[in-house]
Amino acid sequence: MTVSLVKFDDSLDSLRKAIELCQGFEKLNSHDRVLIKPNNCFRHKIMPPYGMVTTSKIIDGVVQLLLEYGCKDISIGEGAIIGIFDELEPYTKQGFKGTGIDKVAEKYGIKLIDFNEGDFHELDLGGVKVKVSRAALDTDFLINVPVLKTHFQAKVSLGFKNLKGCLSKDSKKRFHISKRLDTLICLLNEAIKSDLVIIDGIYMLEKGPETLVGVAHRKDLIIASPDIFECDVVGAAILGIDPAQVDYLREFAQRHNRSFDISAIQIKGEDIESLKEQLEWRFEPDKEILTPAKITGLSAPYPGQTLCSACGATLALALSIFGKDNPGMDFGGAALYYGLGLKSERDTQKVFLYGDCAIRSNKGLKNAIRIEGCPPTLTKTLLALMKALLNKPRMFRMLLLRAIKLIGIRLGIYQEVFPRWERYRSKEFDKTHFS
Ligand code: SF4
Repeated sequence: MTVSLVKFDDSLDSLRKAIELCQGFEKLNSHDRVLIKPNNCFRHKIMPPYGMVTTSKIIDGVVQLLLEYGCKDISIGEGAIIGIFDELEPYTKQGFKGTGIDKVAEKYGIKLIDFNEGDFHELDLGGVKVKVSRAALDTDFLINVPVLKTHFQAKVSLGFKNLKGCLSKDSKKRFHISKRLDTLICLLNEAIKSDLVIIDGIYMLEKGPETLVGVAHRKDLIIASPDIFECDVVGAAILGIDPAQVDYLREFAQRHNRSFDISAIQIKGEDIESLKEQLEWRFEPDKEILTPAKITGLSAPYPGQTLCSACGATLALALSIFGKDNPGMDFGGAALYYGLGLKSERDTQKVFLYGDCAIRSNKGLKNAIRIEGCPPTLTKTLLALMKALLNKPRMFRMLLLRAIKLIGIRLGIYQEVFPRWERYRSKEFDKTHFS
C-alpha cells in the first residue's frame, strides 16, 4: 500500500491530495456507515490544543470529502479520559466542544458518539478482558485521525494508539495496570481495523501527550494511508523516533511479518528525508514542571507505563498550579509516587502516594500521605499538597486565590495560563484550526 505525505496549505485540496495519493477511499462504498475517530482524548478548554488533539479543520475536511463522495451515514466518535476541574459535564462532550468538532457535526448534521456511554462489546485481548465501543466495531469504514505526537510512555501516539479511545474508561485503565500496554495496543488494532489513517500533522507535539508538559511545533503535514502499520512507521520516523523501538509496532511487525524498512514503503508526495525531526518523547514530570518554577525538594520521578493518562494529566495540572502559586520554594525532600511501578523506600509525611495504584503498591507504608482516587481529583490533590507542604498563612492565601480563580474559570471570565504556554501566542499557532 501507499503512504502519502502532503504539505498542508490550509486548503481542502491538500487533504484531498493526501487521500487520493494513497487511494484512501478505494474501498469506501458510499452506502457505508463511516466512523471518524479523532484524537480528542483530553478535555482541554484551558489547555492549548496544538499537537495534543486533532484539529477540527482536518475533521471538517474529511467530512466534506466524504459528503462529496456521496456518503450519508457519517459519525464522529471518541471516549475522552478526564475532565480537568472536576466538572460535571461528560468529558467527551467537553472535548468535542473544546476542539470545535461539535460545530463541525452541527454544520453537516453528523452524529457525535460518546464512546464512554456504551454500548460495549467485551473482547478478550490475550487474556485481558476489555470493553470496546460497539460503534467502533460495527462500522463499515473506520477513518482513524490521530495527531502527530510523541508520548512519554508509548514513545509515539499515532494511529495504533488512537484506538485506545474506543475502550470503556475502566478498560483504558486496565491497559496500564495489566503492565502490558504495548501488547494490548497491538491486539486492539487486530480487533478494530482502521480502513484509512490520516495523521493530522498541522502541529506536532514533543514530550506528549498533553501540553502541560509537551511542547507543540507547527509542521503543516498530512500523512495518510490505508495501511495503519506503514502510516505509523512513517509518522514515527518523521518525529525522529525509530519505529522499531516502539514496542507495540515491533510486536505487530513480529505477529504479521512486517518490515520496518522505510525504503520498501511506497511513499508518494513529499520527500520523507526532508521532513524528519528529532523530537524528545521522555520526560521527568518534576524537572519539566517544578524546575522551571524554581521549586526544589519535591520530586515526581518517571512513572513508567503503569500510569494511566487520567492520573498523569491530573497530576501534571496539579503540579503546574502548585508550582505557579509557590515559585522558588524548597520543600525539603518531599516525593510523589504514582502508578503501579514506583515504590517508596521512606515512610514519612513527606511521601505522597498519589492514586489508588500507588497506595496499593506501597501498602506497608503507615505515615505516607495517601491521595485516594482513580484518578484522584484535582481539588483533592491540591489540598493534600497544600496541607502537607505549606505553612498555614500561605495555604489559606493559596486556597482563597484558587477558589476565586476556579469560580472565574467556571463562569468563563478567567483563563488559567502557565508560563510555558506563552509560545502559543505566536502567529504560527492558529486558533481557527480549532473553531
Ligand atoms: S489510580 Fe491512576 S494509574 Fe491507577 S488505575 Fe486509577 S487512574 Fe490509572
